[in-house]
Amino acid sequence: MRYLSTRDKLVRVTAAEAIAKGLSDEGGLFVPEVLPSLSEGQIQSMCAMRYQQRAVYIMSAFLKDFSAAELTEFATKAYSDKNFSAPQIAPLKTLTGDTWFLELWHGPTSAFKDMALQMLPHLLTASLQKTGETRKVCILVATSGDTGKAALEGFCDVDRTKILVFYPQDGVSDVQRLQMVSQSGGNVGVSGVVGNFDDAQTGVKQIFGDPVLKHVSSAAGYVLSSANSINWGRLLPQIVYYVSAYCDLVQAGRIALGDPVNVSVPTGNFGNILAAFYAKKMGLPINKLICASNENNVLTNFIRTGTYDRNRPFHNTLSPSMDILVSSNLERLLFALSGESDVITAAYMAELNKTGRYTVTPQIKREIDQIFWADYCDDEKTKKVIYATYRKFGYLIDPHTAVAFDVLNHYRHDTGDNTPAIVVSTASPYKFADSVLDALGQWGREEGLELIDRLASVTGTIPPMPLLGLKGKRVRFDQVIYKEAMPQAVMDFLK
Ligand SMILES: *Cc1c(COP(=O)(O)O)cnc(C)c1O
Repeated sequence: MRYLSTRDKLVRVTAAEAIAKGLSDEGGLFVPEVLPSLSEGQIQSMCAMRYQQRAVYIMSAFLKDFSAAELTEFATKAYSDKNFSAPQIAPLKTLTGDTWFLELWHGPTSAFKDMALQMLPHLLTASLQKTGETRKVCILVATSGDTGKAALEGFCDVDRTKILVFYPQDGVSDVQRLQMVSQSGGNVGVSGVVGNFDDAQTGVKQIFGDPVLKHVSSAAGYVLSSANSINWGRLLPQIVYYVSAYCDLVQAGRIALGDPVNVSVPTGNFGNILAAFYAKKMGLPINKLICASNENNVLTNFIRTGTYDRNRPFHNTLSPSMDILVSSNLERLLFALSGESDVITAAYMAELNKTGRYTVTPQIKREIDQIFWADYCDDEKTKKVIYATYRKFGYLIDPHTAVAFDVLNHYRHDTGDNTPAIVVSTASPYKFADSVLDALGQWGREEGLELIDRLASVTGTIPPMPLLGLKGKRVRFDQVIYKEAMPQAVMDFLK
């Protein structure tokens, strides 16, 4: 199976090329030329499988240039019991009869990015080999918090790779910063950047566009690459947990095979919910995709009106991993809903680039209405939901998950559709211990890692091991630089 660019369908590459390149030359994203279908019989046969086998089953359908043996090796390594503290890898928790939380944060960094970033390094290094690339790869990441640490863990000591992460000095939580600056591994680097996430991201984008740096890194034996969520190798592993969750519900007798479920996803860059969209298109019985945002509600407006408009104030919220105004993966949705038109997709992206906004055709809007529903939840309400969920069910959720839960409740209230629903839980509450304590009315004098102990003692819950383990860790990377110094930092790193 070939992959096409969303902006030029004449670009046709293999899966390995799509993963090795990340982004097509003219700026488009790679998408499979046909979406494999998933029959009821196939879903049934996956019900008896373990998570790792389900991953191989789904991924093989997309990665024809990878052997089953290869993918089995990758899945076994990525979703090992060393990396994941839950044997089911992505377990479901039931609160009430028809609402389940899909916990995607039992991996090494306690956020859902691990589901993809434990797999990506295997796919990427194999893809480089398959495409005849002889240079090593240097991954550059700008992070608003969760991606950086997850990428560091994923690529830590992976053969033929180096990884350098830039985080904004003002813009990551204490726990997130400590997770990164204490990262182990001989091939890793971490640097703070003065400014906010946009500064760090702009810096990395400039580096990718800098011909001199490209040349210098190549001379040093490296090809520069990114681990962000536009890479197909990051999106694909995310389809797996939707299928897996459905299988688990069938297996547990909660639903019958073929029954519909709704899915509510806390959304930022549109990667997670796009994976659910692909799962639905493949044949998984998902009824409605509920897109949940925080006060940066550009996607709520888009899904409700058909106009995407990034010209608006940016808010720092309690759910920082969703503080995004341009959701890159939306491009893949536009391509799918425009009848796979590269011309229409490219035109929207050009308009977005030029004016910061675009409006889709009535036809596309109708398709969106059939598949999606959207709303948002502000910080005050987020705290209330964390508090109420804990009081009512004894279940602790993080701010991102709270946003998704709240928006599911809006949906049920507004539409009367009470189809059983999966709320996608994207981070451990301990990763955002400060906000969660505040929501519970238990704000104390603690800071940094002390917050983890306090949340544990207040709630009697157990923190994830990797976060507890941060305590004894030494700070390895205390450098903070100006944005202008980022290219030099890359050159030093490659020496
Ligand atoms: C990245 C992230 C999200 C947003 O996911 P997208 O794929 O960017 O939509 C939500 N919650 C958490 C905790 C995250 O780290």
